[in-house]
Amino acid sequence: MKVHFLGGSDEVGASSLFVEIANHRILVDCGIRMKDREGEILPKINIIDELGGVETVLLTHAHLDHSGGLPVIYQKYNVPLYLTAPTLAIISIMLLDALKVMEMEKTKEDEIPLYTLQEVEKVIAAARPIPFGVTTELFGGDVRFTFYSASHILGAAFIIIEGKDDGVLMISGDISYVDQVSIPGLVIPPKIKPDLVIIESTYGGRVHADRNEQIEKLVEQTGEVLKRSGSILFPSFAVGRAQEIILILSDAIEKKKIPLVPILVDGLVKNICQVYSSYPDLMTPWLKKRIRKYGNPFFYDDGPTIPIWEYKKREVYAKMRPSIIVSSSGMLSGGPSPLYAQELAGDKRNFIAITGYQDEESPGRKLQQLAQEGKGMLQLGEKSVSLECGVGTYSLSAHADTEQLGNIIQSFGAKRVALVHGDHGAREFLSFAMEEKGVKEVFQPVLGEELVFNKRGRKRTKSVLAETENTPKIKKHTDLNLVELAEELLYKDGVNRPYTIQEIMVAGGYSYEEITEQEIERIRKMFAINSYPFKQDKKKKFLYRIVPQFYGTKSSPEQVGVWEQNKLANRIQEIFPEKSGIYRHSFDSASKTMTLFFCFPKKAWEVYGEIIKAIEEESLWKIQISPTVHQESLIQEANKVIPESWQTEKKVSLYMQEEKVILSLSKNPFSLEEIQAEIAEFQNRTGFTLEVISKGNTMLAGQLLAAPVKQENAIQKEKKTEEKPIAQKPEPVKQPELLSFKAKQSKQMEINQAFFTIKKRFMYEPHQPLKTSLRNEGTPYIELIFVTNQLGERYQEAISGLEKETGWQLRIKKHCDQFRIKEIAKSLIPKDWELLKEPAVYLNDLNIVACVKNIIKPESLEELDRQLYDQTAFHLKIVTLQNPIMEIRIDSIKVPNYMKNYVFNEEKLEKLKQAYAKSAKSPSPIEVRRIGNDQYLLIDGLKRIIAAKSLGYTTISAQIVEKTLGDLLQ
Ligand SMILES: [Zn+2]
Ligand SMILES: [Zn+2]
Repeated sequence: MKVHFLGGSDEVGASSLFVEIANHRILVDCGIRMKDREGEILPKINIIDELGGVETVLLTHAHLDHSGGLPVIYQKYNVPLYLTAPTLAIISIMLLDALKVMEMEKTKEDEIPLYTLQEVEKVIAAARPIPFGVTTELFGGDVRFTFYSASHILGAAFIIIEGKDDGVLMISGDISYVDQVSIPGLVIPPKIKPDLVIIESTYGGRVHADRNEQIEKLVEQTGEVLKRSGSILFPSFAVGRAQEIILILSDAIEKKKIPLVPILVDGLVKNICQVYSSYPDLMTPWLKKRIRKYGNPFFYDDGPTIPIWEYKKREVYAKMRPSIIVSSSGMLSGGPSPLYAQELAGDKRNFIAITGYQDEESPGRKLQQLAQEGKGMLQLGEKSVSLECGVGTYSLSAHADTEQLGNIIQSFGAKRVALVHGDHGAREFLSFAMEEKGVKEVFQPVLGEELVFNKRGRKRTKSVLAETENTPKIKKHTDLNLVELAEELLYKDGVNRPYTIQEIMVAGGYSYEEITEQEIERIRKMFAINSYPFKQDKKKKFLYRIVPQFYGTKSSPEQVGVWEQNKLANRIQEIFPEKSGIYRHSFDSASKTMTLFFCFPKKAWEVYGEIIKAIEEESLWKIQISPTVHQESLIQEANKVIPESWQTEKKVSLYMQEEKVILSLSKNPFSLEEIQAEIAEFQNRTGFTLEVISKGNTMLAGQLLAAPVKQENAIQKEKKTEEKPIAQKPEPVKQPELLSFKAKQSKQMEINQAFFTIKKRFMYEPHQPLKTSLRNEGTPYIELIFVTNQLGERYQEAISGLEKETGWQLRIKKHCDQFRIKEIAKSLIPKDWELLKEPAVYLNDLNIVACVKNIIKPESLEELDRQLYDQTAFHLKIVTLQNPIMEIRIDSIKVPNYMKNYVFNEEKLEKLKQAYAKSAKSPSPIEVRRIGNDQYLLIDGLKRIIAAKSLGYTTISAQIVEKTLGDLLQ
């Protein structure tokens, strides 16, 4: 086993490892540097060619210091990329955004972007999501790897790679130890004994403060800032940290620990929150509950958060006091956070709260230093500002600290450790601490170094949970160890419930007399060291639960009913050999649907349809086959048909619609009969027909081999049967499943790819969907949520185009984000007009009415209305105290003669009536002019009056304006 450290070894940034194992070459991560090192942004990937090229890529997690360079790899290599599904969803967003930034810099600073959109698409297309805990075989079983949750951020994995007769390697990626608000803490599976552990050391040499205490302090500080009408900025990494902070503060507002003020969320954070909402099963129970309740627990109706989608509005919002701002980037080095910091820095009332790792050179680190020194000038982007505001640092790190890293290494029983992802000091300290803990060899590789490791002379681990002698036994003389004990309990109880130590003891074979206080205490102490697979309950410390990762991979009574996802994944792997052409699978846990990706889907249905149906019945999952043909494999198969000895150039053309492949040969005909068997094999393997053409002569393989052509016709009924003469009538193949499968699924994109396509389409539009999600009521469709559905309807054309492109039905959700509309309206109204109270939203009339002290520039009213309409499809009505809104009697309103002849569309009127009746909300105010004591002349709103009157209203709210008859006649 040989590891080349291409980047991210003595630094945080550009993480990349090139692993040679069991004679195969794997790249793990390919990140970028946020701060370039001698002008280099990428890791040393230029040496990959010399090393023989890469055969497959594994990705630990989505942070750009691990993933940002991937598109550059795919410029050259077209190899599978293994990652977890959430990581795929996040990098789709991150890479696109990074590209957008680079393109902006291109026009500004003449910098050439690292990659193009096509290369991002290649990365997405190469991606093969694998769930946690599922072992995947590569290269015919020579290498196996498994992702386990690294807790760090959503989807983050540490990877175990096992090479046949070449040892076991553990790569930590970025790893966190304790529970965060969103992601549960690390659970180390037992029985994995890596020969080498490559572990991050970001916080080597430091010990984190107690997380809960830090959260309390942070909430307290926020409260103080808000009390003095200041704003507090949390510059945060878009993935992970920002979500934590939003949840912490939303919760604090809910519990009334801090006053209700808007939490402005800006930068990439917004999009990532949507991804977090899509994976409830990977979240802490607390967040899972909130996802069930709100859908998106970060942005929900009447929630405190406001996403800033309109970049023009950033400046307006930055001036809003008091407020909370959560914005990327985390080190104030990019994204919108420096802009907010510029706005906040000069005022004593404000505060900037640092919550994560700060690079040596970053503005964030400078800010911390300045704050310690007292005062000074802070450079933010091109601006330099004097630092007056408060600054604080709160440790909410998603990286393990020295002690925790030590625990992790001990749990793996690692004797050899390589430290990466840390600066010199951190690694030096950690190295010392590791040696203290009995680690034999600690390496601190430098950039470009390679290390060779020989496998220890011992059997390689087979299954993660099969071997159990290392987990503690509860009783000296019983054979049961804890894993078996947990199995027993699960089997006996059928549910996963918490257990007291006494219960566990009874189950472990203790008689009641044997359960003494001393013995309980002994076991409690033992559990403090290693209680796996029992985990102490966080609140009720005397209770223990069986960890989900455990019962997730074992068959237990829990799984009677719908199968657990991992179980299904394992079963599929068992059943389908590599030659079946399966290359990937994905899950939609919401609809319990599994999608299998075969090189030749049609053929796969023919061969495996029955088996799939059987597994469907057993597992209670819906299993479908993606209809997309793996084109490269098709080309490969076609090339195999012509023997090398013919020495002819081959060109393969694919006709996907016709399910036909044409092979053009550069030389004159050879005898087709010679390759009849190969052609038959091709058609049999792929379900495609093959035509062989050579210069001056066309040979239709289909004519030689009638049967496959006939099959084709039997399936594609719309195709003409008499197109080609057929020698002999074969039995038509009955494939009802295939037919329905084709009808429903034809040309439908894989869902992540469809999301990506939608995102891409809206990338440069003025409005993006707030949320894009898969809905499974009836026929599955993709739902788009905009601030208002009326706004979404402006993109009808784009949406129809996307429907065609993705093969999915797209619907705009009937939805109106009142809170957001109000916030936008509030931000539009100039401060000196003095908004008097919360604007009122009139859903039925698509109006929003705001009352201000005085309208200082009446000529700008129209512009404000236009802006609101542009952003929300709602109209803005501004009223003042001078012409207030009053409830007046309908019979006191005089309708001018010229209005009496108005003809209204009956249908529309009826709709309006129904809307008022249903919503119990009154119509938006009509406009009237006072013409006498308790006498009014109607200016605008006849339809509203008619509707209100017919519903039995006697009064209606009206805005009383001072307009002369002359004005009105105009
Ligand atoms: Zn990370
Ligand atoms: Zn990292």
